Amino acid sequence: MDHATAPPRPKIIAIANQKGGVGKTTSAINLSAALAEEGQSVLLIDLDPQGNASTGLGIGLDRREFTTYELLLEDIELAELIQETEVPNISVIPATVDLSSADVELVANEKRSHLLYDALRQPEMEHFDFDYILIDCPPSLNLLTVNAMIAAHSVLVPLQSEFFALEGLSQLMLTVRDIRDQANPNLRIEGVVLTMHDMRNRLSQQVENDARANLGDLVFETVIPRNVRVSEAPSFAMPVLDYDTASKGAAAYRALAQEILTNNQRRAAA
Ligand code: ADP
Ligand code: MG
Repeated sequence: MDHATAPPRPKIIAIANQKGGVGKTTSAINLSAALAEEGQSVLLIDLDPQGNASTGLGIGLDRREFTTYELLLEDIELAELIQETEVPNISVIPATVDLSSADVELVANEKRSHLLYDALRQPEMEHFDFDYILIDCPPSLNLLTVNAMIAAHSVLVPLQSEFFALEGLSQLMLTVRDIRDQANPNLRIEGVVLTMHDMRNRLSQQVENDARANLGDLVFETVIPRNVRVSEAPSFAMPVLDYDTASKGAAAYRALAQEILTNNQRRAAA
């Protein structure tokens, strides 16, 4: 492959939506698992002080001495920060509530918006040889999310199939545009993925139709169904792909990973 057209590696994707409960963390965990199943080496960065992605992948509080807080604000070796999980090919940098104070401390820091960018571009990163880095963002357009968008190549937006879903989206798109203008001109929208979709529900169908009419190709073909197995999996500290590998939720996240892999190959070849 011509060097000029080589896709970025690792490819860094921020999973963002300022609304809570729309499926960011669920998508971060299960998309990581689906990419890992395809042999991709994945680092999931938990950028939400709630630490749900860390918990969902089995990194208990006793294993969170070094976290995303230290990644951003202290000089700690990556080997101390990056933790392997029980799932082959998935590593995590976990988060704790400490990260909520980071959002405040960042304001006083001159490099406040670029801390994650710098952390992920440090030369030691190459030793880990990741294919993908997924960032699970907090439910806010705060400085943590701005750090993620400046560090990332693209933003993946989970959109819950419910009333008002599209309203918050325009605010998010404006933020992406600001970040492009000011700091990261190549930031792409990886795509919008409809989550918790219920085929029998007319409202779900309406949200999907509206999203496709307004956003066209930006919306992934894959739709993530509302599936109880998906919501049960985190309490077993597993991705749904392992918890119930034959479930509809697992199949959907596998299909989403395929779309992302295919799109990235196509972009690289273009
Ligand atoms: P966010 O990270 O955006 O706040 P979460 O991923 O934590 O959202 O999801 C919010 C809630 O919805 C969680 O309880 C999660 O288990 C549940 N959930 C997410 N996706 C699905 C799905 N496809 N089917 C059923 N429940 C889901
Ligand atoms: Mg979350």
